[in-house]
Amino acid sequence: MEGAKEAMFYAPLEEGAVKCMLCRRGCVIPDGGRGFCRVRKNVGGKLYSLNYGRAIGMAVDPIEKKPFYHFWPGSQAFSFATVGCNFRCLHCQNWDISQASPEDFPTPYTPPEELVREAERLGTRIIAYTYTEPTIFYEYARDTGVLAREKGMLNVFVTNGYTGKEAIDDAAKSFLDAARIDLKGGEEHYLKIAGGVVLDRVLDTIRDYYRTGMHVEIITLVIPGDNDTREFVARMAGFLRTELSDEVPWHFTRFYPAYKMTDVPPTSVETLEKMHDWAKEEGMKYVYIGNVPGHEYNNTYCPKCGEKVIERDGFTVTGVALSGSPGKYKCPSCGTRIPIVGEAKPTSLSRPELF
Ligand code: SF4
Repeated sequence: MEGAKEAMFYAPLEEGAVKCMLCRRGCVIPDGGRGFCRVRKNVGGKLYSLNYGRAIGMAVDPIEKKPFYHFWPGSQAFSFATVGCNFRCLHCQNWDISQASPEDFPTPYTPPEELVREAERLGTRIIAYTYTEPTIFYEYARDTGVLAREKGMLNVFVTNGYTGKEAIDDAAKSFLDAARIDLKGGEEHYLKIAGGVVLDRVLDTIRDYYRTGMHVEIITLVIPGDNDTREFVARMAGFLRTELSDEVPWHFTRFYPAYKMTDVPPTSVETLEKMHDWAKEEGMKYVYIGNVPGHEYNNTYCPKCGEKVIERDGFTVTGVALSGSPGKYKCPSCGTRIPIVGEAKPTSLSRPELF
C-alpha cells in the first residue's frame, strides 16, 4: 500500500463495499478486495489506486507508432505505462505487464514531476499514456498531464475504449488532448477475446471521447477469421460516419500471434488492403494500414483529388507536401482542407537518449 493514492470516481455501497466507475466494467468491490484490473483495492470502504507513481516501460516513440497520423505528424512522444488492465485480450502483445499485479513488478516510485521533467529534458512535447490501459492509472496520468499542460506540453491516451464518462469529461477539461481508441471487433469478439467486454459500451466510450472535442483516431487490429469481414467494416464505418465524422482516421493493423492466441496466422497484406478499400468505399476519408512499412496505404492522400500530402515509411514521416499553416492545412493541388492537429513535419532522425 506504500504510495497508494485514493482513487477517483467511486461510490460507497453497503457493508464497506464500493462501486468503481472509472471504467465501464463498474466493479463492485468488497472491503479488502480488488477490481478486475488488479490495481484498485478497497481498504475499509475507501478505494485506492495501487499503481500510482509506478511507471514502467518508459521510452520515446514516434507519435506514428501509437498510431496517430493526424496529430503532430513527425513528432516524438515520451511514453510510459503502469501494470494492470481492465481487459483480458487473448492476443495482448504486452500481456506480461498488462496482466500483472503491482506486486509482480516492484517498481521504484516516480512522481509525476519527474516524468514531466524527463519529457522536457528529452525535448518531447507530447506525453503518451500507453502500452497498457491508461484508464486504470488515471490518477497518475492526470497529475502528470496537468503538470505537463502547465508547461505547454500535450497529452495523449492510447486506450482500449472503456473509460467511464465522468473520467473522459474530467480528462478533456484538465489535461487530455487526444485519444487513439481501439475498435476491436463485434459483440462476440469483445465478449470472448477481450474478456467479457460489451461492444455497445465501447461505442458509447468512443462517442463520449469524440464529443469532448479532443482529437480522436480509431484502430482495428485485423484478426483473420474474426473481424476481417465486409459486414464488420460497413457496420463500424456507419457508426463512425454518423456518430463521429467521416474524417476520423481509421487504422487497420496487422495481427501477429501472441500470448494465448498463437493458433491464428498473421494477417496477410491482401486482407489489410481489402479492409482499407472497404472502409474507403463506405465513405471514410482517411484510412491506413499498419505494421506494413513502406506500403502506399501508410501515406495520407487528399480525399478529393488523391494528391499525396504526407508520405510515411513505417513510423517515419518522410515527406510533407501540405500547403497552408498548422491548423489550416490544405491540399496543394486542389485546396481541400486536410484535418491535421498541430504542425506536420518530417521525422527527425536524431533520437533523444532516454535517462
Ligand atoms: S477501473 Fe478497475 S476497478 Fe474500476 S471498474 Fe474498471 S476494472 Fe473495475
